[in-house]
Amino acid sequence: MERLDAFMARANAAYYATHDPFADFTTAPEISQAFGEVLGLWAAVVWQSMGAPDPVLLVEAGPGRGTLMADARRAIARAAPAFGSALRLHLIETSLRLRTAQAAVLPEATWHDRLATLPDGPLILFANEFLDALPIRQFVRRGEVLMERFVENGRFVERISDSPPGDGPDGAVVERNDAAQGLVAAVAQRVTAESGATLLLDYGPAVSAPGDSLQAVRDGKPADPLSEAGTADLTAHVDFAALAEVARDAGASVYGPVPQGVFLTRIGLMQRTGALARSQPPARAAAMMASAQRLIEPDRMGRLFKAMALCPPGCPTPPGFEA
Ligand code: SAH
Repeated sequence: MERLDAFMARANAAYYATHDPFADFTTAPEISQAFGEVLGLWAAVVWQSMGAPDPVLLVEAGPGRGTLMADARRAIARAAPAFGSALRLHLIETSLRLRTAQAAVLPEATWHDRLATLPDGPLILFANEFLDALPIRQFVRRGEVLMERFVENGRFVERISDSPPGDGPDGAVVERNDAAQGLVAAVAQRVTAESGATLLLDYGPAVSAPGDSLQAVRDGKPADPLSEAGTADLTAHVDFAALAEVARDAGASVYGPVPQGVFLTRIGLMQRTGALARSQPPARAAAMMASAQRLIEPDRMGRLFKAMALCPPGCPTPPGFEA
């Protein structure tokens, strides 16, 4: 018997070590090159507002194939060369298999297993679809008792938790992501102490809601999350309200969450896509516009996905978070 977070950590470590996750699911940077490009320009604007520190760490947590950062680097080199030469690229990635893929497109990067080993100094950090892969715990209130969910032989079993039952609805699953909260607290402390900013993009509701959001994708299709650990990608909704609270407690200013479609529209995803499409044959240009639209449209990735930014108290509003 294993507590759910231990099961999820073990399953995902095995999955990312042995699979090409992008055979099972796709992500915004894999859908449109303009995504990483406009995020690179977002970072350049934030860097200017920080007083253009040189050197500055540009960090990504969970970079997958390295596509977002490679696209960002290219846009930065073209539009903000001073930022391009000031930045030092650091990637937080535990999968050796994915590190190899990242090194092919970002040979100048330095790799880390976790945030704690990053060098000191101002930093700008991205995390896209990273927090959703971190292990969650699930609790269920049964009357006056709080139960916690464990995994045994491919199914849930409940054990009495020593935490107080709370006031959630009886019988409803409540999730908690200690790993995501720990990471956000640490980044919030760092940007507050050293200057910088963090951009978190992920999927989940803006307001915390009870419910079991654990899901698995195997061979591109929804699957049972508890069976055959390590053969499916496990994710859960990111609780942005809980993370915002943790970041504020750590001293940071929090912007958002705003729906990803709103954020990307404001920072110019469609303009950038239009500029790229102009030099393409009509069918290719139409495909590029449709891909970018997929990231923005509310019933696709535009609404469930959210953007949230952390920066030091008193920092100017980061691009895309204007009220
Ligand atoms: N950001 C990428 C990939 C998302 S998949 C994109 O948008 O395409 C999740 C990524 O996080 C993978 O690179 C995976 O190997 C990495 N990852 C998952 N758990 C991790 C952990 N605990 N520590 C560091 N990296 C992790």
